[in-house]
Amino acid sequence: MEFKGIVYHEFPKAMYVHVPFCASICAYCDFARVKYTSVLFDKWLAVIRKELDSVSTNEMRTIYIGGGTPSSLSIEQLDVFLGLLDRFSGVEEYTIEVNPETLSLEKCMMLKKHGINRISMGVQSFQSHLLKMMDRKHCVEDIMQCLAWFKEVGITNCSIDLMYALPKQSMEDWENDLAIACSLDVSHISLYSLTIEPNSKFGRWGVEPIDGDLEFEMYEYAIDYLSSHGFDHYEVSNFARNGLCSKHNIAYWKYDDFYGIGLGSSGKLGKYRYTQTMNFVEYFNETLDMEIVELDDSDERFEAIMMGLRMLEGICIEEYNCRYKVDLLALYEGAINENIRRGWLEIVDGYMCVTRDGLYLLHEVLLEFMND
Ligand code: SF4
Repeated sequence: MEFKGIVYHEFPKAMYVHVPFCASICAYCDFARVKYTSVLFDKWLAVIRKELDSVSTNEMRTIYIGGGTPSSLSIEQLDVFLGLLDRFSGVEEYTIEVNPETLSLEKCMMLKKHGINRISMGVQSFQSHLLKMMDRKHCVEDIMQCLAWFKEVGITNCSIDLMYALPKQSMEDWENDLAIACSLDVSHISLYSLTIEPNSKFGRWGVEPIDGDLEFEMYEYAIDYLSSHGFDHYEVSNFARNGLCSKHNIAYWKYDDFYGIGLGSSGKLGKYRYTQTMNFVEYFNETLDMEIVELDDSDERFEAIMMGLRMLEGICIEEYNCRYKVDLLALYEGAINENIRRGWLEIVDGYMCVTRDGLYLLHEVLLEFMND
């Protein structure tokens, strides 16, 4: 099989598709996105159609449409774009990212018509002053209205994003956000701590990060609060109710292969990891300048650990040994022993996983593996 010049041997079962349009630009954002116009949409559609055509399988277990704001497209545009993905069958989990202010009941019906069965909604906060500070354009009523629409059209698996470590965000704000989130009919919560990117508005305005101790306190509080309110903490920043973990993201954390389609997207095909251009002109002109990295055996073994330790259940040692034809405990003996000695790692029932302390220090945990 071949995709954009990369030769690989097994079809991935997961696909990420990037929609780069946003109705407005948030203050913290430096993603691959552009303000939506219908002229740009037409140009983009032609390129994404070709990209999707070059995926030479019709079988996919998970599809994740992210952005940008995919819901910023008009109903007609959503219909045409999602129609390009209708050929994929066997899709167990089909997610689209939405922002509350860009949705309508008709758009929700359109999502349902094309088989979407999971929503990831950019809520970020339920506090008006924080939404305003982030330049988010929705209000709390918009969020509640969207949840009602999802229910009405029969999309019952809904994840929300919440942000913490925001400037001017008090502990009380954060506690309120988590309490409201738990009171809603949502199956999944993803937490994001603010990073001030130099190219974002926050970066340009010189916004300072909050105190590290407060950030840690917010994270710890969230783990305890969500865990005691029916959410299973299954990944560093992700929590699921009723077993509704993100199957698509688990494919990343299990270091499976996946296609990345669209501006700035990344994918992994066998021994190759690729990242597409974030430059709109290059993308629209189809001078698809892709960065391709060929992974050697030790890269793969390390990256599988880097991704796998993000999950609370950790890495199945037997599976890892089979996949890479090594003895994990012997291969990384030094790193494992040192991390266990520090109380950051443990081996439980055949799985290697981080402890609660190790969760927050994952970067340090991985440094040991990198240096081993
Ligand atoms: S955070 Fe999301 S919605 Fe906001 S500008 Fe960035 S991509 Fe668009």
